[in-house]
Amino acid sequence: MDFEYSDKVKALQRKVEDFMDRYVLPAIPRWSREVAEGSAHPPVIDELKALARSDGLWNLFLPGLGADEPGQRLTNLEYAPLAEIMGRVPWAPEAFNCSAPDTGNMEILHLFATPGQKERWLAPLLAGEIRSCFAMTEPDVASSDATNIQTRIERDGGHYVLHGRKWFISGAAHPNCRFAIVMGQTDASADVHRRQSMVIVPLDTPGVEVIRNIPVMNHLSPEGHCEIVFRGARVPAANLVHEPGSGFAIAQARLGPGRIHHCMRSIGQCELALALMAERASERKAFGRALHQHANVADWIAQSRIEIDQARLLVLKTAWLIDRSGNKAAAKEIAMIKALVPRLQTQVCDRAMQVFGAMGLSPDTPLPMLWTLGRVLRIADGPDEVHLRSVARQEVAAAAERRGANLPYFAAAQAR
Ligand SMILES: Cc1cc2nc3c(=O)[nH]c(=O)nc-3n(C[C@H](O)[C@H](O)[C@H](O)COP(=O)(O)OP(=O)(O)OC[C@H]3O[C@@H](n4cnc5c(N)ncnc54)[C@H](O)[C@@H]3O)c2cc1C
Repeated sequence: MDFEYSDKVKALQRKVEDFMDRYVLPAIPRWSREVAEGSAHPPVIDELKALARSDGLWNLFLPGLGADEPGQRLTNLEYAPLAEIMGRVPWAPEAFNCSAPDTGNMEILHLFATPGQKERWLAPLLAGEIRSCFAMTEPDVASSDATNIQTRIERDGGHYVLHGRKWFISGAAHPNCRFAIVMGQTDASADVHRRQSMVIVPLDTPGVEVIRNIPVMNHLSPEGHCEIVFRGARVPAANLVHEPGSGFAIAQARLGPGRIHHCMRSIGQCELALALMAERASERKAFGRALHQHANVADWIAQSRIEIDQARLLVLKTAWLIDRSGNKAAAKEIAMIKALVPRLQTQVCDRAMQVFGAMGLSPDTPLPMLWTLGRVLRIADGPDEVHLRSVARQEVAAAAERRGANLPYFAAAQAR
């Protein structure tokens, strides 16, 4: 087992770090100003995108790109340490065309779209010319259980007609967001896992209305987490993704890579929070000594280091497993990291905020935003409890399979 990144990855790490230092970090004040002035798509992003693309730092996330598609050809294992660096600035991944929810949608289209759909929707996404969103969650049903989704997608001749309401749809307020991949029921009488399908719905379709951008933890994302209503929105039947009834399976395929990308970025955000915590603890004195000389603060720093390294190893193992055997084979590990990393992020950020005192709760530090991102991820892309349940089920199933195999361990007791 080799824990060292390859030379190729080390070179890319240096390149991404250099790009962040030279272009992204100095752009933070401008990005903040442009957002404060009301821009949902700060112009600085387009300038950074042009630079990243010409530097070859483009579409790093998507393994198996075709020869004529723009971007690097990296495995998930090679991408992980790069996502970590990009993730330190929450909006930076867009500069590299590696931001959610587009990455997940590109995965879907890459795997399941027809040649016509790829040309119309995937090509401009890969080129960074448009953005997209993914619409599954609904206000009226517990959407962590995808079989509950109620939006109707009804066949009407050569079209599908949509009726339903979605919410918390990330990215829908972005001015370049051109389409949603919408999950809904095409056959209410089918087996529960075959009821759902996905269709591509251009956002300018009559009957599609973005009602509002919902604030999250008092923060209004410029790109939005939006409520969207579909009132008889009609799209060509050719917009169906894959085949009728495959929505549930596609959702599973999409959420695998989407979840690991979130976790990779989260690890980078944890690293940043820890670095800030350690620096503050060295610089600031209370009761006659530096904060890190108080045992509890030293423990928070050490504990954070240990937990981040543990989590990173599990994320890398998951990436390796996906590369080697696919999303399905890595389902348990994906659930494990999705339950682990967001909780770690809130914990490390919480410790860092405590070390910063009052300042740690203010937007003068990135900590409240990093904490919020971790808190969001404890629900988005599936709540912790759903992932824990999935891990437990697989462990219990494995226990049932090896039933009796551990009896010899009780031999000492039996001999008494
Ligand atoms: C900022 C943000 C962005 C989002 N972006 C998107 C997006 O782009 N597209 C999209 O479709 N959705 C998006 N979501 C929605 C998110 O995926 C859902 O909120 C999530 O799947 C949970 O669904 P729900 O809110 O309906 O909660 P519910 O399904 O009602 O669940 C509520 C709670 O019940 C508990 N629970 C549920 N199931 C179990 C179980 N099996 N065992 C134990 N407890 C359980 C959990 O504690 C859970 O939090 C986003 C959410 C947020 C906060």
